[in-house]
Amino acid sequence: MILYCATTNPGKLREFRQAAEAYGRGRIQVEVLPGLEGIPPCEETGRTFEENAVQKALYYSAWAPGLLFAEDSGLEVDALGGAPGVLSARFAGPGATDEANNRLLLEKLRGVTQRTARFVCVAALAERGRLLRTFRGVVEGRIADEPRGQNGFGYDPLFYYEPFGATFGEVSAERKMSVSHRGQALRQLMEWVATQLPAGTARL
Ligand code: IMP
Repeated sequence: MILYCATTNPGKLREFRQAAEAYGRGRIQVEVLPGLEGIPPCEETGRTFEENAVQKALYYSAWAPGLLFAEDSGLEVDALGGAPGVLSARFAGPGATDEANNRLLLEKLRGVTQRTARFVCVAALAERGRLLRTFRGVVEGRIADEPRGQNGFGYDPLFYYEPFGATFGEVSAERKMSVSHRGQALRQLMEWVATQLPAGTARL
């Protein structure tokens, strides 16, 4: 079956497809909502990842011919009181690049030794404007002193994950997904969707 998503972020789309492969039992294919470019973007006015994920899922699923999920994710840095949080994508201002966001984060943490942080992801699943469920994933790490690695996107080169002894920017997409906030949330989502399908439903 097709599971629609409403993202224009290529990094996220790659991870969505990877999760469908890994956890969808060969029965789920992720596709971008047809005509997404022509749909006015959903406002993200929530104060939490949950509120934003649900807001986006309800909004975009009204245009989807089947199940649609939306996710909201970001970085919480303890020394910054949980910032950038829901503002992670626009930390350095509207339309900010990953590089600008990373630079600002390093500036704000200059001289700070308490560098614990976490990535959080909430995925919300909806069908024609009706919320079915939400799924949450969290991964704990530390903000490195400088960017390391070319992989991933966003804050990955600054997110040091102790069990790997590396930043998320230094590991493969598969390795990151096996532990990441998005990997956890999507695993739950894909497994839930796959178990709801009637037995024998084939992947399209
Ligand atoms: P949104 O969910 O589109 O509002 O944006 C989430 C933002 O959080 C991204 O643009 C990144 O800056 C950051 N972010 C979320 N997940 C990740 C990740 O897995 N790696 C690096 N940065 C992330």
